[in-house]
Amino acid sequence: GPSVVWFRDDLRVGDHPALHAALARHRPIVAVYVFDDESPGVRTLGGAARWWLHQSLRSLGATLEALGGGLILRRGPAAPIITEIARETDAAAVFWNRRYGSAERMIDTAIKAELRADGVDAHSFAGSLLFEPWTIQTGQGGSYSVFTPFWRACQAGPPPRAPYPSPDTVSGWSGSLATDSLDDWGLEPSAPDWADGLRAAWQPGETSAQQMLGRFLAESLPRYGAERDEPAQNATSRLSPYLRWGEISPHQVWAATQEAQRSLSGPALASATRFLTEVGWREFAYHVLFHAPELATKNLRPAFDAFPWPELDHEAVTAWQQGRTGFALVDAGMRELWRTGSMHNRVRMVTASFLIKNMLVDWRVGERWFWDTLVDADAASNPFGWQWVAGSGADAAPYFRIFNPELQAAKFDPHQQYIRANVPEYGTDAYPAPLVDLGETRRAALAAYDKVKAQS
Ligand code: FAD
Repeated sequence: GPSVVWFRDDLRVGDHPALHAALARHRPIVAVYVFDDESPGVRTLGGAARWWLHQSLRSLGATLEALGGGLILRRGPAAPIITEIARETDAAAVFWNRRYGSAERMIDTAIKAELRADGVDAHSFAGSLLFEPWTIQTGQGGSYSVFTPFWRACQAGPPPRAPYPSPDTVSGWSGSLATDSLDDWGLEPSAPDWADGLRAAWQPGETSAQQMLGRFLAESLPRYGAERDEPAQNATSRLSPYLRWGEISPHQVWAATQEAQRSLSGPALASATRFLTEVGWREFAYHVLFHAPELATKNLRPAFDAFPWPELDHEAVTAWQQGRTGFALVDAGMRELWRTGSMHNRVRMVTASFLIKNMLVDWRVGERWFWDTLVDADAASNPFGWQWVAGSGADAAPYFRIFNPELQAAKFDPHQQYIRANVPEYGTDAYPAPLVDLGETRRAALAAYDKVKAQS
């Protein structure tokens, strides 16, 4: 019988361990994607993520067809769908690459047991992280809560494996199997169609991911260390949504960067190390999620449960979401996010700090907005980033470190290029007055934080 390859957060054919194993062991291939917005505990995708997924599936389907295969699309709870497809095709094997959220792992474990009971060779592979979470442990056998020793431990072991090559052909199964039509899933917005800015900013898919990586390594890697904090410089890789959807694997990024850094020295070489360290933060976020599955809803540091969040001012939150706070760097970031589905890392920190510490809004409110609007929103990095800024997270910035959005703008966007690109009316009468007094709100935030200190 054929192999069913179940695609999830790994929408590529290159360096795809499950596909690689299937091609080696049991051809032909039945490639499947299940859009599961029903299984309990699986977080519903945000709007920008749904748009990206639509493009990404179209791209993967076209790639598989060009290789002689195809992509079966199904919608509904994954467990019955996958076992049903395995039975219908009389599959010898079902292979997939692992996921790290708790609900997803429970679904996968149950499916594996059911398939094996049917005599199917069900197997999962490591495709989305460089280091599997259970392999990186402290001397005491626990998990790391601080990044530097975590990353040191990752690098002390065997290096990440080399990427698998892309297959030349993916002979598809010749039987007939029902498939949904991607357009019927309604992942792309129609009325109103708000995705023009996303279309202009991004070209999802495996081919673009490789092009982005190649261009970044050739043009920006040497200056990454010096310019990565300046949003107008375009010095970062912009690979995060491609990594989120697995259109590129961290192993491919790792190997290509290792190769590129061989010709570098001095600050340019330090730049490459810095870039790989940032990829390490992605690993850390996923490892933290693996050990703390409720990352998006629960403070990692329980002392923060005592934080006295005032009643939510919905109008103020809307002003933040729409980029009308009267603080130019905050507004520029929020508008970039709405328009392009992304925001520069430095500005993510500033906008998040502003919401939490100058508006005294619970970090979870901001996390949900980012979840809905980011094309790279993932269940690990997004709540991890928010808890990091809030001070409640792993290796977090201390709560009393409150970014001043004006000083941040002066330092990281000194010529206001980023601000002017995103807030055209900046400097005119049409620009809104400041929503809050920075000094006063800072003092209020620090007073509220005393409640947390009393708990710790
Ligand atoms: P580069 O600087 O080129 O870095 C390379 C890769 O390393 C990134 O693509 C990303 O995969 C990883 N990376 C870099 N920095 C971080 C980090 N701090 N944490 C985790 N991974 C990192 N990143 C997401 O991928 N998804 C999210 O939902 C997300 N939400 C965030 C929310 C907040 C409040 C904050 C402060 C940060 C968040 N980040 C998130 C991390 C970071 O902002 C983005 O990964 C980065 O801006 C992506 O741009 P890039 O690909 O050009 O990054």
